[in-house]
Amino acid sequence: MTPKGNAFMDCRKCGTWNPDDKNFCWRCNAELPKPVEKKPKKAPRVFAGLPIWMWIMLALFFVVLVIGQCSVSELLVPS
Ligand SMILES: [Zn+2]
Repeated sequence: MTPKGNAFMDCRKCGTWNPDDKNFCWRCNAELPKPVEKKPKKAPRVFAGLPIWMWIMLALFFVVLVIGQCSVSELLVPS
């Protein structure tokens, strides 16, 4: 299976496919375009000005607070 959108790794001169680690075409020795690094955009997830993990920490803190105030037996056996 050959993906058609993979044109950047083909030699621009002769159109030959080259491995990713090659800097020059093995066929015509032409310089190859550097492969585009697939760097996933590390956009920090922010919700209402705070990162998501901060909200999770706050939620956990709140849960711990609530559990700490109520006794566990009350939570397990609602009357
Ligand atoms: Zn070539």
